[in-house]
Amino acid sequence: MTGQTCDMAIVGGGLAGGLIALAVTQARPDLSLRLIEAGAQLGGNHRWSWFASDLPAGGEALLAPFRTTEWDAGYDVRFPKHSRHLSSRYCSLASEDFAAVLTCDLPAEAILTETEVTKLDASGVTLGDGTRIEARAVIDCRGFAPTATLSGGWQVFMGRQMRLARPHGLTAPVIMDATVAQLGGYRFVYVLPLSAHEVFIEDTYYQDSPALDHAALSARLDDYALAQGWEGQVLSSETGVLPVITGGDFAAFRAERQIAGVAMAGARGGFVHPLTSYTLPFAVATALAVAADAQLPGDQLAARLEARAQEHWRAMGFYRLLGRMLFGAARPEERYRVFERFYRLSETLIERFYAGRSTLADRARVLAGKPPVPISRAIAALTRPAPPLLAPEHKDDQ
Ligand SMILES: Cc1cc2nc3c(=O)[nH]c(=O)nc-3n(C[C@H](O)[C@H](O)[C@H](O)COP(=O)(O)OP(=O)(O)OC[C@H]3O[C@@H](n4cnc5c(N)ncnc54)[C@H](O)[C@@H]3O)c2cc1C
Repeated sequence: MTGQTCDMAIVGGGLAGGLIALAVTQARPDLSLRLIEAGAQLGGNHRWSWFASDLPAGGEALLAPFRTTEWDAGYDVRFPKHSRHLSSRYCSLASEDFAAVLTCDLPAEAILTETEVTKLDASGVTLGDGTRIEARAVIDCRGFAPTATLSGGWQVFMGRQMRLARPHGLTAPVIMDATVAQLGGYRFVYVLPLSAHEVFIEDTYYQDSPALDHAALSARLDDYALAQGWEGQVLSSETGVLPVITGGDFAAFRAERQIAGVAMAGARGGFVHPLTSYTLPFAVATALAVAADAQLPGDQLAARLEARAQEHWRAMGFYRLLGRMLFGAARPEERYRVFERFYRLSETLIERFYAGRSTLADRARVLAGKPPVPISRAIAALTRPAPPLLAPEHKDDQ
């Protein structure tokens, strides 16, 4: 297929869309693709991180072409009463390195940036300038949007990459430094030592509202860096407001977005870890699955991904329950205790938790023992409905 006709049109060149394009190109170089991104660069302005143990079989090979930073010796966590070093390998990928590989490995005609798709249907997509691209299969990877069909809280953060005047001295990432003041939610600082003089610092809050106070978070990052004795130049910064999904009506969520015959992937399709808001391991798994099914007609591919999404939602129920307890039972400033206790558990249990693969025994172990929140409040949290995952302007409308 040539010109304005292709085998597969992928709408959204973020993490999910980009990985699908790469996986399909690797598995089926004979197929023609279009990866269509509204922004100027594939992948946007992100840094994605993951534990090596999160990835499904074949995942490491898919990610191998990317220039990543990896910490083979594990990572640290710090809480007021408990600090620990864990040995799981941690990995991180910057969006410019993501974009560089896609630009190099995909055929030039496959990538369209600064191109908004205004209409998707089972037989193709229409671009903002009216151009029509016919496709055998269309995959919608346009990312997550606030919704009244799901409920929960928010993970809000600001990250900053710095080049320091002197070496920072860290040997391992600090995935959670929760020894900082707890302000309005579970707050921790996340630190990645990218090289001897470069660090990535992120100030994160598990909070009830999606509001992000740029000035306050920026000042707190300044304070944190100063307290560590880190002075230098800010190279880049990023912010995130991610859903922490604790419940909702998944069929209604899908129906709200579903276009007949169009497959959905990434955060838009619900392929998210409800508690960490991470999507990378699931985006990798979905990309490999799409590559294996790349010859299917679009409606059949859509049905396969729909079935995967339903199964994913079912499998994530335990994490939604924990999220309900975190947000509903623990006072915002006490939420850190839930994580402090969690980080006393076995390392393999913690690995499976992040990968979304907790066993029945893991679940029992997480829930057993003296709870870090009062049991009466934990039970009340399970019965009380959580707020919808709507942006502030929608809430004000109500
Ligand atoms: C700052 C930040 C850091 C994060 N860090 C991590 C992390 O470390 N690990 C992790 O697993 N997860 C992380 N996440 C969460 C999640 O993995 C990311 O949000 C991830 O990028 C979601 O992938 P996606 O492809 O579904 O959506 P996105 O990556 O958001 O991609 C959607 C793309 O669709 C494009 N688009 C939308 N509408 C149109 C249209 N009409 N036409 C064309 N293009 C369109 C957008 O411009 C965007 O590029 C992070 C999120 C953020 C915001």
